[in-house]
Amino acid sequence: LDKPVQVKLVLLGEAAVGKSSVVMRFVQNDFSENKEPTIGAAFLTQKCRLEDRVLRYEIWDTAGQERFHSLAPMYYRNAQAAVVVYDITKASSLEKAKSWVKELQRQANPNIVIALVGNKLDLVQSTGAGAAAPAGDEGEEEEPDDATATPGEGAEQAEEGEQSLRQVPKEEAAAYAQEAGLLFAETSAKTGEGVVEVFTEIAKKIPIE
Ligand code: GDP
Ligand code: MG
Repeated sequence: LDKPVQVKLVLLGEAAVGKSSVVMRFVQNDFSENKEPTIGAAFLTQKCRLEDRVLRYEIWDTAGQERFHSLAPMYYRNAQAAVVVYDITKASSLEKAKSWVKELQRQANPNIVIALVGNKLDLVQSTGAGAAAPAGDEGEEEEPDDATATPGEGAEQAEEGEQSLRQVPKEEAAAYAQEAGLLFAETSAKTGEGVVEVFTEIAKKIPIE
């Protein structure tokens, strides 16, 4: 009676943005630093449980390389959902993502649910607590009495270095996604942040047959 609804989903995006890693996080809850690039495409399945129903994603994880571009229509042709991934530390990957969205909106199923996903969020996050404080030059100098409360200079520099890795502001990608009618999220396949949520939000938008 409560047979899961099959939902065909395709992953698109530039090579090395983390498509396979996002899928591996979603399907196996796992991550590997040295993933070999996908050749052609890989097929995986995973169930997704909503409050009122269960979906079974049939996932086509495509290769990002340009030489495989001509194969992409085979994978998105009958897809009900697409996850278009870019790397938030690489601005050009958002441009590639936009071109995939354009192609999907022209050529894929008109009802396709598309999610734009900015991956590698872990690379721009600082690990230290209270990291939000900006390092201003002006203002009163505070010399804490307690030496243990003073962050080391090295730590401060590392933090700034991490922040500067971001090349795509979240607001910019979110604004584009809204304009184009896409779901939007930032994720880290490495830590798992935001990954399951992407597939859950897509599932909620898949019409009940
Ligand atoms: P694909 O070509 O889009 O399928 O990308 P892969 O999943 O093969 O990932 C490319 C590289 O980026 C690999 O070395 C991954 O380990 C790494 N990677 C993928 N996702 C993340 C992430 O969220 N954070 C970090 N730090 N590295 C990631
Ligand atoms: Mg891959």
